[in-house]
Amino acid sequence: MTSDRAYTVAVLPGDGIGPEVTREAVAAVDAAGAAHGFHVRWSTHDFGGVAIDRHGPPLPDATLAACRAADAVLLGAVGGPRWVGGAETPETGLLAIRKALGLFANLRPARVDDPALSPLKAGIAAGADVLVVRELTGGLYFGDKVEGDEEASDLCRYSRGEVERIAHVAFKAARDRRGRVTSVDKANVLATSRLWRRVVTAVAADYPDVALDHMYVDAAAMALVTGPTRFDVILTENLFGDILSDALSVLPGSIGLLGSASLGDGGPGMFEPIHGSAPDIAGEDRASPAGAIEAAAMMLDQLGETRAAGALRQAVAEAIAGGVRTPDLGGTARCSAFGAAVRGRIDAAA
Ligand code: ATP
Ligand code: MG
Repeated sequence: MTSDRAYTVAVLPGDGIGPEVTREAVAAVDAAGAAHGFHVRWSTHDFGGVAIDRHGPPLPDATLAACRAADAVLLGAVGGPRWVGGAETPETGLLAIRKALGLFANLRPARVDDPALSPLKAGIAAGADVLVVRELTGGLYFGDKVEGDEEASDLCRYSRGEVERIAHVAFKAARDRRGRVTSVDKANVLATSRLWRRVVTAVAADYPDVALDHMYVDAAAMALVTGPTRFDVILTENLFGDILSDALSVLPGSIGLLGSASLGDGGPGMFEPIHGSAPDIAGEDRASPAGAIEAAAMMLDQLGETRAAGALRQAVAEAIAGGVRTPDLGGTARCSAFGAAVRGRIDAAA
């Protein structure tokens, strides 16, 4: 079949269940491409623990070069007990690739499709559909550190420009959703949060069609479990986003369902499931590939293939609703069988 559009994607399967779930995501995208008239040229590269074992560094130069040259990067998961405590770890590779690709925005959507699967009461969870937009390269994680035996400190700093660019990402995302941004900070205590609030308020003037409100992070944490439907887009800084997005990730019912995107300024974005390498189930064909497929759908959205992205999401939702469930959702379906069920639905819908 001839294809109108072609994309180059660097696949980094990584460690643990990473290769199993990315295999299904790649196959799902190929099926969607056949149905929607585009073609993906995939190339696969070592990254994380597997790269440490084979090459030394977790992010080999050849892997980074391939990512830079690609339209997008699809990542599985990295890490595992074998590499804990080394000088170079899979996690240092993750920080290095985010930095090298300038990925300052992390997007994590979570939607409750079936309230019966949520740990929250159905009446609270039903209809929840939240996107966390987290600043990824500033704040406490990257400020100067002093580490002593009796005293330690981490500097939290943000510049106006850093806040502006992440705010634009959040407001643009809200336009494609329900038009509401909740900026989360701790402006009653932190100077960085007061700057954050001022800058976000100023950026909001460019988006008169988007409603903005502000919330303290402690109140937001409570609201995520008592009334998540009040949120559309949550915009927040690095540390708060790390914590809130993990809290959010339990709402749909399994960590295996969710994907995330890390975006920079114009270069390739990186797309991955939010779960880790899950060494406890690696190699058993029982991981859910739904999160990796959602990551692939976010990638297709970013590439402009929004109809194919919608087809992937619909196929996943239909498969789960139709009872094709991996063990994390209480079923017995294999990872490979879930992937096949998704492809079958994409083919059938085409
Ligand atoms: P990391 O430090 O890499 O984030 P972690 O230990 O925090 O790792 P995961 O590796 O995500 O977290 O595993 C947490 C639990 O969730 C494990 O019991 C794992 O088996 C389970 N899990 C993770 N991903 C999936 C998946 N795709 N399908 C089913 N279960 C999963
Ligand atoms: Mg974790």
